[in-house]
Amino acid sequence: MKTVGVIGGGGAGLCALRHILDTEDMQPVVWEKAHELGGTWVYSSNIGSERNGLSIHSSIYQNLRTNLPKNIMGFPDFHFPSEGEPFCHHSEVLKYMQDYANKFNLLQHIKFGHHVENVSCDGEIWKVTVCELSSQVRSTTACDALIICNGHYSVPRIPQIKGLENYKGLISHSHGYRLPCAYKDKTVVVLGAAASGIDISKEIATVAKEVYLSHNREDSVKCGLPGNINEVKGVTEYTDEGFVFGTESKVHADAILFCTGYEYSFPFFDSSCGVLIENNQVMPLYKQIIHSKYPTMGFIGIPHDSLPFAMFHFQALYFIATLKGQIVLPTEEEMLKTTQEEIKTKEASGIPAKHYHNIRLDLFSYMEWLAQECKVEPLPPCFKKVWDKVECWKGQRELNGTCCGAN
Ligand code: FAD
Repeated sequence: MKTVGVIGGGGAGLCALRHILDTEDMQPVVWEKAHELGGTWVYSSNIGSERNGLSIHSSIYQNLRTNLPKNIMGFPDFHFPSEGEPFCHHSEVLKYMQDYANKFNLLQHIKFGHHVENVSCDGEIWKVTVCELSSQVRSTTACDALIICNGHYSVPRIPQIKGLENYKGLISHSHGYRLPCAYKDKTVVVLGAAASGIDISKEIATVAKEVYLSHNREDSVKCGLPGNINEVKGVTEYTDEGFVFGTESKVHADAILFCTGYEYSFPFFDSSCGVLIENNQVMPLYKQIIHSKYPTMGFIGIPHDSLPFAMFHFQALYFIATLKGQIVLPTEEEMLKTTQEEIKTKEASGIPAKHYHNIRLDLFSYMEWLAQECKVEPLPPCFKKVWDKVECWKGQRELNGTCCGAN
């Protein structure tokens, strides 16, 4: 029996566990530092740190609704209930995950309140040191394989802004955003216009005097935005005259909110694990999953701008199939070469290497490739149809305010 450790009991960890349980010769153990499953989807009104001193994991805000319709958001083998709004409140996603865990009898395999502090590798066995948070007792488990599912939306990325050290107003990041009330009657700069930046700007605009939605996107977000949101270039500097947008306009603001994304972070790996993060890339990964040097380590959920739950499903099946020997991996050199080629191909099409993990344009071919390798059912074509409609709808809404119908 192989012991397979899983770090994290969010969507990726639950999915990995569900598929390990389908095998006969693997014994799973999942460590989850929180006291319940769900990861990102466990809303916390706290910001900063938990009672046990660990930092808050979830970046979900109180009124958040999903940005994917639930008919394509779930795992392919377990559907969301069809009643209710297509873009549902975050609490419905958590309920869905609890139902998934119950359906596949996952709970008994999860050690809640267990924080993974250290992982080391002797070339064959993974040693995982875990702190049981209530007793502070530490123990080490030897694992034949390890699946990393610790989530990637908890460590804020904050860009350097010249002069920001002189700014006396409120500085925060979307990781700690919960409700708009702190911005009542204020002038607010929101930096970053991806999904959270746009959504949070709109919510803040309901109470704020003015919002400056600052970004360097080539297209405009313009339509669908209320009149007190001004779209401006990215912040380049803070001076006595206020925030400078691009080269020209300046504005005095009471607050700046960074919606600038998150950093990959694996604080538990020691150097023997050979995992590096450089230029926003987690290395050395093959097919964004397999540790090329030590292929008994797999990562679920590294690519972003995806259909997370569906992608977790195929990634988990693929990694487990490699562990079972059903899929024979190329040599380390070949895996590294493949990854370098993928990065170069993306670069040639105008996508910088730092965006390698953005899978948006390759998502469906990626999942199809994984399904083919595993010899399992691919996603039904309707998933792509709905995804394309949603993309079109988002683009239309952001570009000129019309909608091509997402449902
Ligand atoms: P997480 O859900 O973050 O789970 C990781 C788990 O690992 C956590 O439970 C954490 O406590 C645990 N953990 C971490 N470190 C340790 C450790 N050292 N020891 C033990 N346990 C540890 N996706 C969608 O599909 N639709 C949406 O509409 C959507 N909206 C989003 C909105 C926001 C604001 C954010 C931040 C994300 C959104 N996502 C959305 C993406 C969402 O993150 C994924 O859907 C998915 O839930 C991520 O799952 P995960 O398991 O990779 O990570």
